[in-house]
This record gives sequence, C-alpha cells and structure tokens, in this order.
Amino acid sequence: MKNAQQIEEALAELSALLGASGYLGGYDERKRHSRDTSTARSCLPIAVLRPGNTEEVAGIMRVCQRIGMPVVPQGGLTGLSGGAVPTEGSVALSLERMNGVIEVDAENASLTAWAGTPLETVQEAARCAGFEYPVDIGARGSATIGGTIATNAGGIRVVRHGMTRQHLLGLEAVLPDASVIRNLRPMLKDNAGFDLKHMFVGSEGCLGVITRAVLRLSPAPHDRYTVLLGMPGYEAAIACLASARRHFQAELTAFEGMWPAYWSLACRMVAASRPPLGTGHGIYILMETSSRDRGWLEEWLEDCLEAGVVSDGVLADSLSAARTMWSVREAIGDVDREIGAHLNFDIGLAPSQLGEFAEACEKALGDLVTRDILHLGHIADGNLHVIVPVPAGDEVTGTEVERRLFDLLAERGGSVAAEHGIGTLKRPWIDRTRSADEISLMRVLKAAMDPKGILNPGKVIP
Ligand SMILES: Cc1cc2nc3c(=O)[nH]c(=O)nc-3n(C[C@H](O)[C@H](O)[C@H](O)COP(=O)(O)OP(=O)(O)OC[C@H]3O[C@@H](n4cnc5c(N)ncnc54)[C@H](O)[C@@H]3O)c2cc1C
Repeated sequence: MKNAQQIEEALAELSALLGASGYLGGYDERKRHSRDTSTARSCLPIAVLRPGNTEEVAGIMRVCQRIGMPVVPQGGLTGLSGGAVPTEGSVALSLERMNGVIEVDAENASLTAWAGTPLETVQEAARCAGFEYPVDIGARGSATIGGTIATNAGGIRVVRHGMTRQHLLGLEAVLPDASVIRNLRPMLKDNAGFDLKHMFVGSEGCLGVITRAVLRLSPAPHDRYTVLLGMPGYEAAIACLASARRHFQAELTAFEGMWPAYWSLACRMVAASRPPLGTGHGIYILMETSSRDRGWLEEWLEDCLEAGVVSDGVLADSLSAARTMWSVREAIGDVDREIGAHLNFDIGLAPSQLGEFAEACEKALGDLVTRDILHLGHIADGNLHVIVPVPAGDEVTGTEVERRLFDLLAERGGSVAAEHGIGTLKRPWIDRTRSADEISLMRVLKAAMDPKGILNPGKVIP
C-alpha cells in the first residue's frame, strides 16, 4: 500500500528521470490531460509524464510498479469511451513527445512511426512516398498511431481496407513490469508462435504502452470519386450497397449512411448556405470509389436512379465539392456540442439489421429523450452510431437508455462497441456482447501481464 511519502518520492524520481519538458505537475497541464473527447467524467492526474523515448517509458513503469501507482496511457485524447481518462491517484503517461515518422520503406511498402505521431502525419508521409495509409477517421489531426492501435480504430474505409489490425506489421510495447516487447520487422508473414503484437490491438492501454509501430502501406489510388445519394429508406440503401459491391468490387472504398435528423442538423452546422443535396429523403449515403473511370460511376448512378433505388444523386465534380460532402458526415463533433447532454453509442450488427435497429431504438427510447435521436454510421461495416439526447445530469434516465438500447442489441446478437472500444462507459455492458468465459479469459491475461493492476485500471474489464 503506497503512502503519501512514497508518492512524493516516486514523483521526485520521475521528475528527475524525465526533466522539465517530460514532467508536468502544474494545474493547467493536469487539467488538459484530465479527460478525453467522450462524455466520461474528468479526473485530474497527479502528474503528467511525457517520456521522450522507449527507455523513459520503461523507467516510468519501473518506478510506478514499485509502489503500485496507476498509469494511464494517453495519445491524442480523441477517444469516445473514456479509456484515456485518468483514474483517482494515477499519473497520465502522454505519448505526445514520442512523435514522428522514423522511416518510410518504399521497397517493403511499410512505415515506422513513434506511437505519439498523429494519424494525419502518417497519412501525409505515406502520400509523399506514393503510398496510402488507408486507416482514416474524422479525428485524424489529433488521434495518434498508438491510440488508433490501442482502440483498433476503424473509420471510413474499412469496407475496402479493414481496421487498424490489418495494417500492423510490427510493434514495440513496454509492459507493466518495464520489460520491452520489440518486433519492428516489416514482415507480412510471421507464424513463429503466438502473434504477440495482436494482444495490444484493441487492448485500450490495459496490457502495455505502445511506443513504436511498423505499418503496412497500400498503393495510392489512381483517382477517388465521391457521390452523395438520397434514397427512400434503409432497404434501398442495402440494395444500393449490394449493387455497388457487385459493380465496383474492390474499388468501393466507403459507404456511409446518415439518417434525416442527423443530415439536417449537420447541414445546418457546416453547409448552411448550400447543402450538397436536398432534404426530404429517407436516408443519405455518402459513397466513395477508387475507380479509374468517372464514366463508369455515372452509368451506375443512372441505372440506380432509373431502377428507383436512388431518388437523387450528386457526383462531386471537384475536390472542394467532395470535401463539402465529407464535412457533413464528419460534423459529428459539432453536432455533439450543439445538442447538449447526450449519450453516444457505437454498435455493431450485420449491415442488413441496422435500419430495423434504428427504428427499434426510436420506439424504445421515445419517452426518455429530450430531442430527436440521431443515427449515422459505416453501413457497409455494420456499424451504427446512435446519439441519444438525454436530460443533463440525470443519471437514472441515462442508465435506463443504456439498458433498453443494449437489451435490443443483445436480442439481435450485436456488439456494444464496434470501433470505439469499451473504456469506462461501456464497461458495465460488456457482458451483453462477451460471454462469462471470454471475460474471465480477459481477466487471466490482464493478471498475467499486469499482476499489480497498475496499467489503466478500471477500464474495459468489469
Ligand atoms: C471526431 C471523431 C471521429 C472519430 N471517428 C472514428 C472512426 O471513424 N472510427 C473509429 O474507430 N474511431 C473514431 N473515433 C474514435 C477513435 O477511437 C479515436 O479517435 C482514436 O482511435 C484514439 O486515438 P487517440 O490517440 O486520441 O487515443 P486516446 O483517446 O488518447 O486513447 C484511447 C485509448 O487508447 C489508449 N492508448 C492511447 N495511446 C496508447 C499507447 N501509446 N499505448 C497504449 N495505449 C494507448 C488509451 O489508454 C485509451 O484507452 C473518432 C473520434 C472523434 C473525436
């Protein structure tokens, strides 16, 4: 059991180890690291630690392990499940100084980066070398490589390229006992025993601190076309998805859905003067292809309009028109701020089930909400985001909303966290998705790797 003197001594040791730029004890800095982008309640860490290399991360773990001081890994703090929010008496371990692309290896189509590198920096480095790093999310400017690995981030191109896991070739991580697991080779095939790097993908900072990663790059697409479609309803969207998959095959790179309440609000916020498509549709689909030929896309769109699957459609005729369309889809942060108190859900189901699930939510939650429920999502991946406005500070109603929604989901065999992870917000509900045996195996792994329970305690595992 640590006492006040042990904590003081440990902090002095950490301060000496990290120096002035690596150890921040002031209120403003601690406040900046007290929350992520989720609705989880903030908590001040007792200090913010900003190591500059892997050895310093190991040094931090050595000191904290000795006295059992909790350590909370933090990347860009864009997480939406409370996973990076400090727990009582913890230090925040921010990767922000371990930032930068170390190498782009064009011969082996790979890139090595420090964990604190923003996703956008990696995308840009890949682009400059004639490649693409296809993991892409709205928070690309702040979310880090370490954070996207720790949450196995998905995003808008999963239908074509898969989640972060599919792009990870090698990894370096520091374990709670300060040992370093390092395999930074750019090899696609490596079946020599358990593939340990995958333990850290989606582990939400509970098993180790990711310090470096080798990422797989894809060839840069020849061209990209964005088309915005208005349709009568969800059944049409699923028919359209099937048609687009058949027609474009591997060149279908995004298929995103926005329900009318989200569409209207997001258009008002980001494209008020000129919404990219009229209102009055049952659902709006933002689709992207990497086809070489724009004519091919135009023909397909005409066929869909003729068949009545699509009621209206606009093909972006410039980069800026495409950006405006994407800005509506990515206005989720502005929309969240505009609607005030709300709960955010990120559920997984088969694509064909999402429309019925959205309707079931409307019916089941109607008496609890303060304004319209908003739905949007990565339809082709079977991933729906549900934003439920609730009375501010009313935890009883909030819990009832969660219970009803997760009951609906459990009846349909869905996942309570398709891509945002469990963190603290979904932790009470993980048993709606994972069996008792699966949860106890997670506990066994956690106890084996972190026997003192110092790394990101209180997250993921109930
Ligand atoms: C506007 C917006 C759009 C988004 N869109 C998407 C989307 O389309 N798809 C999607 O999947 N997600 C999306 N997200 C959420 C997404 O999970 C996060 O943005 C991102 O993956 C987290 O990266 P981060 O660096 O901000 O991590 P943080 O928020 O700092 O941390 C997230 C979790 O990872 C852990 N962690 C962070 N760094 C490390 C490390 N180096 N080692 C070990 N653990 C670490 C933390 O402890 C925490 O549990 C979105 C978020 C926002 C705000």
